[in-house]
Amino acid sequence: MAEVLVYVDHVDGAVRKPTLELLTLARRIGEPVAVALGNGAADTAAALAEHGAVKVLTADAPEFADYLVVPKVDALQAAYDAVSPAAVLLPSSAEAKEIAARLAVRIGSGIITDAVDLEAGDEGPVATQSAFAASYTTKSRVSKGTPVITVKPNSVAVEAAPAAGAVEALTVSFSAQATGTKVLSRTPRESTGRPELTEAAIVVSGGRGVNGAENFAIIESLADSLGAAVGASRAAVDAGWYPHTNQVGQTGKSVSPQLYIASGISGAIQHRAGMQTSKTIVAINKDSEAPIFDLVDYGVVGDLFNVVPQLTDEVKSRKG
Ligand code: FAD
Repeated sequence: MAEVLVYVDHVDGAVRKPTLELLTLARRIGEPVAVALGNGAADTAAALAEHGAVKVLTADAPEFADYLVVPKVDALQAAYDAVSPAAVLLPSSAEAKEIAARLAVRIGSGIITDAVDLEAGDEGPVATQSAFAASYTTKSRVSKGTPVITVKPNSVAVEAAPAAGAVEALTVSFSAQATGTKVLSRTPRESTGRPELTEAAIVVSGGRGVNGAENFAIIESLADSLGAAVGASRAAVDAGWYPHTNQVGQTGKSVSPQLYIASGISGAIQHRAGMQTSKTIVAINKDSEAPIFDLVDYGVVGDLFNVVPQLTDEVKSRKG
């Protein structure tokens, strides 16, 4: 069976969910061979094996530590040369998409980005992409070289499938480009202590109805009572009330949590594109005609400044 390279997104050995989704998709088109780079790379093996990786190629070097992409492209190319895979899969993060594009150029292959599904086809893997805010889906395949495909997080349910996951060291020789750039300083973002938006089981989002940056505190309180991540509509982000990293939608992040609570969000198609696959959707909106109510499992017609704090108190009281 053909091997499929899967680029592993991990933090110090903790494998992130989008990689497990990639392994689930990779198994449809071949045998997944995972490539884990950087600090803790070998610690990823157990989780990767549990989700179908037949082999885990690992490499660690100081060059991987600084979020520079070229050393990772060098490593992925080394893995590509060693394995001659049928396809290369990466998550659709900003970093991995750059790695994917550079790899595709180097190996002379076509690339498909932001796939939401993948299946085996007679002439190679067929990727589904979602276009125009999920109004259309397209199916495409790479017709030149080995397909390089990036997949959006939360596109598929993770399935466990135990496999050998034998760890092998990958030998990487770094190109002049890789060693030609250095990070001079870095300023870590203040941690909120909340889960990462695309991986959270619960997301509480606020929109224009929140009516000011300071009012996002009530959205955050509800999120914290539930152990949730905070999302925002583009209107709230454009108004400068919440950071763009928290934007949900076509030009923000795609989320697919167990529970999505939208407060003061009208439900524009571009917002839906980023959250409509959530398992249970709850909306709080004072306009009973708001389009978001067409989408929800539970709708509350009311003023979010009354409803959200009551909900927070209720959650807290039930937790005791
Ligand atoms: P509005 O549409 O203004 O809705 C505010 C809602 O709050 C209303 O329904 C109102 O009834 C309700 N409300 C007001 N006060 C209260 C209150 N006190 N209590 C309860 N409810 C209240 N949007 C995104 O979100 N994400 C994207 O990624 C995105 N990408 C886009 C890409 C393109 C190319 C374009 C053209 C647009 C994009 N948009 C995106 C913008 C999108 O079209 C909408 O403009 C945006 O989603 C509206 O945000 P909103 O629902 O917060 O605001």
